[in-house]
Amino acid sequence: MTARLDNMPFNQPAPALANQYEDDRVLRSYLRGALPGDVLAAIEPQLQEMGELAGGPLYGFQRADRLNEPVHTPWDAWGNRIDQVEVTPLWRTAEQLAARHGLIAIPYERAHGAWSRVHQFALVYLFTPSTDVYSCPLAMTDGATRTLSVAGNAELAARALPHLTSRDPREFWTSGQWMTESTGGSDVGLSETVARQDGEGRWRLFGRKWFTSAVTSRMALTLARPEGNPAGGKGLALFYLETRGDDGQLNHILVHRLKDKLGTRKVPTAELTLDGAIATPVQGLSDGIRNIAPMLNVTRTWNSVSAVSYMRRGIALARDYALKRVAFGAPLADKALHLDTLAGMQAEFEAAFHLTFFLVETLGRDETGALSPEEKDLLRLLTPIVKLTTAKQCVAVVSEALECFGGAGYVEDTGLPMLLRDCQVFPIWEGTTNVLSLDALRAVGGGASLAAFGQQVRNLTGRATDARLLPAARQADQALSMASIWLESSSVHGADLVEAGARRFALALGRALALALLARHAQRALDDENDQRPLAAALRFARHAFDGTGDHDPALSRLLALG
Ligand SMILES: Cc1cc2nc3c(=O)[nH]c(=O)nc-3n(C[C@H](O)[C@H](O)[C@H](O)COP(=O)(O)OP(=O)(O)OC[C@H]3O[C@@H](n4cnc5c(N)ncnc54)[C@H](O)[C@@H]3O)c2cc1C
Repeated sequence: MTARLDNMPFNQPAPALANQYEDDRVLRSYLRGALPGDVLAAIEPQLQEMGELAGGPLYGFQRADRLNEPVHTPWDAWGNRIDQVEVTPLWRTAEQLAARHGLIAIPYERAHGAWSRVHQFALVYLFTPSTDVYSCPLAMTDGATRTLSVAGNAELAARALPHLTSRDPREFWTSGQWMTESTGGSDVGLSETVARQDGEGRWRLFGRKWFTSAVTSRMALTLARPEGNPAGGKGLALFYLETRGDDGQLNHILVHRLKDKLGTRKVPTAELTLDGAIATPVQGLSDGIRNIAPMLNVTRTWNSVSAVSYMRRGIALARDYALKRVAFGAPLADKALHLDTLAGMQAEFEAAFHLTFFLVETLGRDETGALSPEEKDLLRLLTPIVKLTTAKQCVAVVSEALECFGGAGYVEDTGLPMLLRDCQVFPIWEGTTNVLSLDALRAVGGGASLAAFGQQVRNLTGRATDARLLPAARQADQALSMASIWLESSSVHGADLVEAGARRFALALGRALALALLARHAQRALDDENDQRPLAAALRFARHAFDGTGDHDPALSRLLALG
């Protein structure tokens, strides 16, 4: 008798996902607490549907599509330059789904007023981890829609907005955001692309854009310096261009290659030359960086939502695996230390989640004119703080999630390594951690918005009345006071000291606000849902924020880790 080569004694069941809406206690509890009942009732069927897709067919499709990557064909068989870029099958489906589900349309249709942003981003949060960073072109599309909505250029708005916000996949356009050049993505003022008018009075752009994601988009917003303008950011103007003409030919754009990247490999990120691309000024012929700011506020919010969605995906898989994987006589879900590890990840995720959706709510209120000037200051500070805090949390949590699978977490065809590679981009694009920390310092400026920030934290912590929450609430208040004192005292010693501490300062603000939001939500969950898990998350996060040691109630840790 011959031994069968595949006669292995044991095969480990793979981790699986359930309906990602039904299974997400944090999302559901947040929505119940935040949304008016009629709004939740109206949007819940769509969330159910997206949750089912994300945990079922789309997740399966994503795994089947794992080895596909976009393909750039520079020339046709006869030597014509064509620069065709074919995206992966999953991406083609993702585009259709995004249009049909109104992932861009929702906040512009505003069926639920200021809550429309929460509606949109709850869907995006479910959609994102199953669609291989298709959130990248969507983020830029939303950003371009917002920018064109407020730019006051009626002609461009009439041309592009119906496409950008269309729910019909045949009409739907995505947009690029082409800012980064080889001279710098952070210091965009160094951009070398020039704009000059041709004999017919059309603006034409000449230069090289160094990171242009989703080069397959139908249009882009980009920066160029009209000839004769001064150097620096002020001399740049914001331009609109369509990537192809009516004849289907590229608009005097040469795609040199797609970048060979660590992650986001499904995203076609190109190096390209604008070789006289026809473009239209969006809003005057200078101040391009200021004029593109609405785009960045939106894309940074998308980045934060994507970061929490990746954390959630890593934890959902790790949690399921802990119930299935047996070691030393029991499932990992029965091992105190593994539970403690999962509980720590969950606490970070819950903090990031509430921080992000606080930003989402504030953005929605801003767009519907509901913010006071002081709250607008707060949003100006909140956006970089939330983006940089959640991006760092995401990389740490997803890295830990991979470790929860042991060696399997390092093996490509489990689909797990891609999670970590993809999320490593969150702290880099849309402003690196350092660049956003400096931006946060600028936002603090004279101190007005830091005072508003502190008041906001105190308003939130004031809602936490359960005795077990009070020390955590006090910690959040104190962290804010310490940050203010640091800023005041280091300012006396010169700009260099302040700049050197900018990242620590920004993260302190982010984590203090996250803790305050967690404490408020924990109180709400105790009162309305008799649920102790948010309390456990708040206590755990409070401890993590300042001190890695100390004991946690094992029963609460278990609840937090597995629920
Ligand atoms: C996958 C991917 C896709 C991208 N897609 C796009 C796109 O579609 N459109 C687009 O415009 N860009 C895109 N980018 C570019 C991205 O936005 C930039 O890479 C990013 O802004 C950083 O710019 P840089 O690469 O020039 O790095 P640099 O600006 O050179 O930064 C290098 C380092 O210096 C630090 N640094 C810079 N200035 C300071 C300072 N003053 N003080 C302290 N530290 C500082 C940064 O934090 C960073 O750590 C993409 C990037 C990636 C990775």
